[in-house]
Amino acid sequence: EQIVVLITGCSSGIGLSLAVRLASDPAKMYKVYATMRNLAKKERLLDCVKGLHKDTLDILQMDITDQQSILDARDRVREKRVNILVCNAGVGLMGPLEAQSLATMRRILEVNLLGTISTIQAFLPGMKAQGHGRVLVTGSIGGLQGLPFNEVYCASKFAVEGACESLAILLQHFNIHVSLIECGPVNTDFLDNLQRAEPGDSSLQQVDAHTRSLYDTYLQHCGMVFQNAAQDTEDIVKVFLDAIQSSNPAFRYYTNNALIPLSSPKISALDGSQYIRNMSKIIFSTNGKGEQK
Ligand code: NAD
Repeated sequence: EQIVVLITGCSSGIGLSLAVRLASDPAKMYKVYATMRNLAKKERLLDCVKGLHKDTLDILQMDITDQQSILDARDRVREKRVNILVCNAGVGLMGPLEAQSLATMRRILEVNLLGTISTIQAFLPGMKAQGHGRVLVTGSIGGLQGLPFNEVYCASKFAVEGACESLAILLQHFNIHVSLIECGPVNTDFLDNLQRAEPGDSSLQQVDAHTRSLYDTYLQHCGMVFQNAAQDTEDIVKVFLDAIQSSNPAFRYYTNNALIPLSSPKISALDGSQYIRNMSKIIFSTNGKGEQK
């Protein structure tokens, strides 16, 4: 019997790569439902799976901010079961907090937090009834530690951590495993897709000059980090596979061991000040070329 996997956000990035990898499994172990908000974007996925048999891949429309769309996708799963749900869809938001509109902030929380939670909600009754299941969530370094100019994004990803940890405690009783795949920077469309305040934006002109200058430094830092340290989606997919293939999956997987030392002062110095000092130094004490001043 095939393992039925439903993945959100498959038109690009991590979701697309994971869908392609699972659907291309030589033993055809997986039946993948690759879902995406906009089916007009399915060509990229189809290009990557050229020549594949129909029996390992189906593409469904699913907007995780639209409950009806989630339920419709769920009802189109022909096997009438989902063994593994992958909540991957998400969007970023970058810029000084004062430059963000309430509507924009709401949108980020709607996708990253409520979208993820309501997707899980829709599939829980089925998993509980079948007596097993896996919920894998694409987590972020921004869900484990604060990052300047990413306040709302981090808030949404921290919130996902809280929801998943809470669920994991309960769902043990139903043989349902929840795992977060924690990613640092990954080479995807994420930076293009995220909403970002750009230097010429009118919203930024209202922000004080000191914040704007720190934001410039942050953007340089961020560009450098993506250039030097971003992983490829294949690396992330490997970690997903570890979690999928483990008989007793962990709650958290880190795709990149370099992420752990950044977070560790949060545990060793519980008052939080050491992490804040370290991060400020790492991000803001550079000369723009990435060298420490
Ligand atoms: P991406 O932008 O290529 O993929 C995100 C996908 O989510 C897109 O296909 C987008 O269309 C989809 N999406 C957005 N809103 C949606 C909605 N309402 N309904 C359904 N789908 C929607 O970027 P990615 O890097 O592959 O992102 C995947 C996940 O990884 C996100 O949750 C992101 O927060 C997380 N992540 C990414 C990075 C990174 O550096 N790329 C780092 C840490 C975590």
